[in-house]
Amino acid sequence: MLLQTPPTEGDPALKPIDPFQPDEIRRLVREFGSPLLIIDCGRVRTQYRKLRGALPGVDLHYALKPLPHPAVVRAIVELGGWLDLATTGEVQLVQSLGIASQRCIHTHPIKRERDIRNALEFGVRLFVADNPDEVRKFRRYGQRAALLLRVSFRSTGAVCDLSRKFGCDPEDAIELARLAASLGVDVRGFSFHVGSQAADSLKHVEAIEACAALLANARRERLGTLDTLDIGGGFPIDYLQHTLDIRPFCAPIRAALARLPKRVRVIAEPGRYIAGPAAIGVASVMGRARREGHWWYYLDDGLYGSYSGQLYDHARYPVESLRQGEPLLPSVLAGPTCDSIDVIAENLMLPQLKAGDLIVGRAMGAYTWASASEFNFFPRATVVAVNRTPGDTGGVE
Ligand SMILES: *Cc1c(COP(=O)(O)O)cnc(C)c1O
Repeated sequence: MLLQTPPTEGDPALKPIDPFQPDEIRRLVREFGSPLLIIDCGRVRTQYRKLRGALPGVDLHYALKPLPHPAVVRAIVELGGWLDLATTGEVQLVQSLGIASQRCIHTHPIKRERDIRNALEFGVRLFVADNPDEVRKFRRYGQRAALLLRVSFRSTGAVCDLSRKFGCDPEDAIELARLAASLGVDVRGFSFHVGSQAADSLKHVEAIEACAALLANARRERLGTLDTLDIGGGFPIDYLQHTLDIRPFCAPIRAALARLPKRVRVIAEPGRYIAGPAAIGVASVMGRARREGHWWYYLDDGLYGSYSGQLYDHARYPVESLRQGEPLLPSVLAGPTCDSIDVIAENLMLPQLKAGDLIVGRAMGAYTWASASEFNFFPRATVVAVNRTPGDTGGVE
């Protein structure tokens, strides 16, 4: 269930609220129940602006995948941002919000014919391909569609390497562009994704330089319009571990982009960086037990729910108890299901908790609720989006 509170920003009768403060968290749980995922659209906007400041001149296409929520999508579009869609479901979500298709690209390298047709019918024009079969699928669409060719740059430093499953070898990229040209499919340029939560920007720089050479070579052979470079996502955020701030992280990227010919339009596909810090997860203690000298607290959200990112995304979220107090005791936080792997954190120092106490997970916007299941019939967290864009009437979606 997706719930939203009325917009508050821009309404002079209401002063801005910080939904991540304890009192406000408690109030929202009273109103909407637990478990809850609280999205702060103010923080979505802050993240977008910070990345735009760190990458001036780069058009930011928010990748919906980490948090496909209408309020986030609207907040990005309202700021003049762009969208990165990868599935028919994401196309339908954006379409249902009445957003112009010109704001969107489709970046899944492998698509069914019906996915392509559906995106084309919505009005998406720019797609991604990384192999001959996929390029051939576009032959029949002539000038209605154009391609970015995704190139693979293996990244062992990223937490999630996205260049093993997708992307062609750099050595094969020109041959792929030749195939597209021979079929009358326009190649607009090249794209890559160095992997999510990148440790540093060296891979981005290496990939930008390799793609700049590919653009020049493909242009020399007149293999397409070749005016676009898509530098993907991968921009990191703080979890339990601190990462580089986005400005210093992007400094080498800015330097590499400055060496590109002026005609090249550069776009990026940030997901995690926009959504991650913009939401918190709130869970309640359902019950507790003392086992081998430690308190075990069983929450109504866990690894099969919003904490699924601990498995799929290899993230460790900073968790804290809203109850304060002494003494602090070594404690275990477990999810609600009957599976023994459903443990969120062990050896956490917490005051003694009771049923109904609230546990907050920070930086839980990206790859959390989006990959949650309802295993054991424990429902996914209710999502509430606050500080929405003025005019975003929301309601139950
Ligand atoms: C997942 C994904 C993104 C978002 O990546 P982040 O590392 O979350 O920024 C962008 N583009 C594509 C094609 C993706 O698959």
